[in-house]
Amino acid sequence: MIVITQPNATEEQIQRIVTRVREFGLEAQISRGASRVIIGVIGPEALLREKPIAAMAGACSVESREQIQSIATIVKESGAKILRGGAFKPRTSPYSFQGLREEGLRFLAEARAKTGLPVVTEVMDPRDLSMIENYADCLQVGTRNMHNFSLLKEVGRSTLPVVLKRGFSATVYDLIMSAEYILNEGNPNVVLCERGIRTFETAARYTLDLSAVPILKSKTHLPVIVDPTHALGLREFVPQMCLAAVAAGADALMIEVHDSPEMAKSDGNQALTPEIFAGLVPRLRAVAAAIGRAL
Ligand code: PEP
Ligand code: MN
Repeated sequence: MIVITQPNATEEQIQRIVTRVREFGLEAQISRGASRVIIGVIGPEALLREKPIAAMAGACSVESREQIQSIATIVKESGAKILRGGAFKPRTSPYSFQGLREEGLRFLAEARAKTGLPVVTEVMDPRDLSMIENYADCLQVGTRNMHNFSLLKEVGRSTLPVVLKRGFSATVYDLIMSAEYILNEGNPNVVLCERGIRTFETAARYTLDLSAVPILKSKTHLPVIVDPTHALGLREFVPQMCLAAVAAGADALMIEVHDSPEMAKSDGNQALTPEIFAGLVPRLRAVAAAIGRAL
């Protein structure tokens, strides 16, 4: 497998990739071109194809320095590998909390410095991209922006990986085509995220389409992750669907966790408590082991 960096990637970015590759027990061979660097990833076939499943966990919104630091510490202790937190929030109502913007990004970066967890955060507007790039390790394009082609093209020019969430009324084909918009601009690091679609069913917030996982994996080479939190919208049922997502072949899970969900400024009803999250991780590991993977 090869990893091609963005043009003029910094030495720090290159070394970060190399370190990650080696953490997986793989060898990294670097070839430097005029503007891009190619990293050859060498190792056993099974390790190359099926990397450990990662838990991406954290708050829906960054609410304060203390809140995101506390949640980051909790999820790290329970085994999360990536910290999530929204600084720009796509809210249904313009009167709901819209996010702390740059202050939120700063708090996320501080939480990363404290825990070592890389940070994924949502970009809603191309005009905010360069600011977000100063703080984040991974960009997220949310469900409401999956069809925002100018945003897709803009993140396609970024050096950061992009989690692309499936539009809640988008088909698998639509999602793949939106990923193409990003890939076409030269960003090869796109992660597809199933997060629930709108159907006639109203028992949950959305309907989690787990069949999309094996289908996407058969149609693309891209990692496929699942966000059961936003799909269910109800804390009570999130753990079951996390387990099902791992069984279906998800490469990572995105899970909202809050230490006082009743006080959360967004999505409190669906956030796992730290205790539920801590109890879930060993069960995820057991399901991963049952299908020959690790978490
Ligand atoms: C989120 O992850 O914070 C979010 C808003 O998700 P979605 O775009 O899937 O609704
Ligand atoms: Mn949320």
